[in-house]
Amino acid sequence: MDDRTASLTKQGSIRHDWTREEVATLFALPFPELVFCAQSIHREHFDPREVQISTLLSIKTGGCPEDCAYCPQSVHYHTGIDAEKLMSRAAVTEAARAAKASGASRFCMGAAWRSPKDRDLDRVCAMVEDVKALGLETCVTLGMLTGSQAQRLKTAGLDYYNHNLDTSPEYYDQIITTRIYQDRLQTLAHVRAAGIHVCCGGIVGMGESREDRVGMIAALASLPAHPESVPINMLVRVEGTPLAQADALTPLEFVRTIAVARITMPASVVRLSAGREDMSEETQALCFLAGANSIFYGPKLLTTSNPAQDRDRALMDKLGLTAMR
Ligand code: SF4
Repeated sequence: MDDRTASLTKQGSIRHDWTREEVATLFALPFPELVFCAQSIHREHFDPREVQISTLLSIKTGGCPEDCAYCPQSVHYHTGIDAEKLMSRAAVTEAARAAKASGASRFCMGAAWRSPKDRDLDRVCAMVEDVKALGLETCVTLGMLTGSQAQRLKTAGLDYYNHNLDTSPEYYDQIITTRIYQDRLQTLAHVRAAGIHVCCGGIVGMGESREDRVGMIAALASLPAHPESVPINMLVRVEGTPLAQADALTPLEFVRTIAVARITMPASVVRLSAGREDMSEETQALCFLAGANSIFYGPKLLTTSNPAQDRDRALMDKLGLTAMR
């Protein structure tokens, strides 16, 4: 490892002043060096044999007024997904119970809203209380929140709020036009102020450049506090969305993105999220080597499919990984 790399990654220290130039330097490291740095830093903060397992349930599917170019749930695209009403409290509790029995430690609930109405938020708060009572960590993703809505979720016992930055600030308007980057940062600030842990990452493979991936990681790593969870998604190209024909990102560039996330946010859980269905076991193994230590478990990720639980279990067994408790 040369002096520059060593100083950039020194002792996996937590920094919030990452420059784009530094992040770009990490991305450009020789692959073995990058993965070695990432794995070394990973071991300073985590047990490398453990993987945190979350389960994600779509509690309100489709009909979203936002126009995120990757999303089959937007009303702007014809993807064959019909709008559904918010699920019942009993059905959510039942799904959470099943997730716990399958080994999940966190139960994430997603609703396709621009932002929740207050009456809907009351119902979600009741779900959070029920899931929490089962002994699971709770996470929701509901779109933009006001400060008082974040406080209500905290009072209900919410542990994590997911709100992704999606991509770099510069590329954002190529992906979404119904909100701006600052809206995302504002919601993240409300969530932090309420004392809720933050789950925040992005999506790669949306036709963005390496420079945009650098910008996205630099934005995440420069937040006032690093997100406790950093989901890195590989775009699932859904027919009917504007990104259906986007060029696929190479698996090695995806692994590089994971490694740079690990190095720049050493104490955060880095999650392999959407796109695992199409990844080989070898790519996923490289991601774990590069510092990923969380996966979504379960047959569906909101509306796109996810590797069957049996396949996940078999892969974890092959790699000697165990579920983080
Ligand atoms: S990603 Fe979320 S906010 Fe965007 S269209 Fe889909 S459900 Fe709506």
